[in-house]
Amino acid sequence: HPAAPDLKWVNSFAGLGADFYTELAPSPLPSPYWVGRNRALARELGLHDQWLESAETLAALTGNQPLAGSRPLASVYAGHQFGVWAGQLGDGRAILLGELETPRGPQEIQLKGAGKTPYSRMGDGRAVLRSSIREFLCSEAMHGLGIATTRALCVTGSDAAVRREEIETAAVVTRTAPSFIRFGHFEHFSYRNKPAQLKALADYVIARFYPDCREARQPYAALLQAVSERTAHMMAAWQAVGFCHGVMNTDNMSILGLTIDYGPFQFLDAFDPGHICNHSDDHGRYAYNKQPNMAYWNLFCLGQALLPLIENQEDALAALESYKTVFPQALQARMRAKLGLPDEHESDGQLIESTFRLLASNKVDYTIFWRRLCGFTAQSGHEPVRDLFFDLESFNAWALQYSERLAPVDIAQKADLMLKSNPKYVLRNHLGEEAIQAAKLKDFSQVDTLLTLLQAPFDEHPGQDSFAGFPPDWASSIAISCSS
Ligand code: AMP
Ligand code: MG
Ligand code: MG
Repeated sequence: HPAAPDLKWVNSFAGLGADFYTELAPSPLPSPYWVGRNRALARELGLHDQWLESAETLAALTGNQPLAGSRPLASVYAGHQFGVWAGQLGDGRAILLGELETPRGPQEIQLKGAGKTPYSRMGDGRAVLRSSIREFLCSEAMHGLGIATTRALCVTGSDAAVRREEIETAAVVTRTAPSFIRFGHFEHFSYRNKPAQLKALADYVIARFYPDCREARQPYAALLQAVSERTAHMMAAWQAVGFCHGVMNTDNMSILGLTIDYGPFQFLDAFDPGHICNHSDDHGRYAYNKQPNMAYWNLFCLGQALLPLIENQEDALAALESYKTVFPQALQARMRAKLGLPDEHESDGQLIESTFRLLASNKVDYTIFWRRLCGFTAQSGHEPVRDLFFDLESFNAWALQYSERLAPVDIAQKADLMLKSNPKYVLRNHLGEEAIQAAKLKDFSQVDTLLTLLQAPFDEHPGQDSFAGFPPDWASSIAISCSS
């Protein structure tokens, strides 16, 4: 194939058999154009530099032309949505092209927004430009932050109309991950009472991604524990960076502990523990401070789905228990790094708690606080940080507590650790929004600029400070719903 001279497809998921998916081709879109391209990821995947330049690739990644060796399919899964069993869902608009052999190991390539599938239900199988840009930028932002996530290779657009609250245009995100299997895949076969398929799926996941579990006395309980631990690490990373996912349904939980399904997500502006980023989440089920418990709730659903494979319920519960120790430890480790504390002290938990309390009571901008704090020393003037607070008495008390804790810490080491742990650039809603408004007018330069900044969010990027500032007043009026 001219566009892909040496793509090697393995397509192991397809080997699971017809119970797991429906094979079908993507539906074409007229006159596609590039919206965003992630050349760094292309290189990581061993794709030629010219590959993301060619018209054939543009056509193929919009779903207009097959890639030789790929075997497109939509997989079936189920899930609990907002705490309620939703039954069968599945890839309603994502089509898995297959699995590519890459220098990073096998990677699945998926086109999101590639048309209707048997699992589309009432949906049109499409994704709009705005949400595709948000997913493209945010998944790469998360990766840049060192947070486990699906990746995005590119976004292509088309002027084809897509009806949402208003008429918008279509786009396709090409995303990659070692696997897109979700908790909901297991729930599907468990609730359908299909133990053979459930076991085949678990064996597939263990063989490819959790090989150590095979040696365990109870491989499936070991799998549940390993997933619980990976999920705990992911949740610690989200909380530490101030990331709100917005739709933590079990069908949006990756079996690999990857951040997946970027919909109404938001990075916190002012710190508000109860912040709800999803306009459709009336009860705040997925509010920022509820995320860790919701992840546990979802793991419990996974445990229930795996029960037919686990000898007794106690083993499943014991496997889930690991979340309750790994999450707080992982969060504390991340918060210590943010505070510039290389070694652990028994008072650290208290310091972290009082930091969160102070940020909440003063509604301090979360990202800016931490970045400014990198320059804080016991001796230095504290103005840049203090300026963020209106309750100066509380700030001074906290600064004293922090200064005392810093006494034994090497200042250079502290600054170095903090600058690697507190990003300067995160994908705030208003930044995404500005890039989207320009993209709607066919100016994709801001998408490109943001991608560059977010892929290296801990670097200074001279001249780009406007992307690291406080949100404008209008930012709080951006309402992001599930509509995408
Ligand atoms: P989400 O809330 O994004 O996790 O999506 C939940 C389910 O709805 C999944 O099965 C999606 O594939 C499906 N879905 C979402 N949007 C669409 C759409 N526009 N067309 C078809 N299916 C969709
Ligand atoms: Mg989803
Ligand atoms: Mg979604």
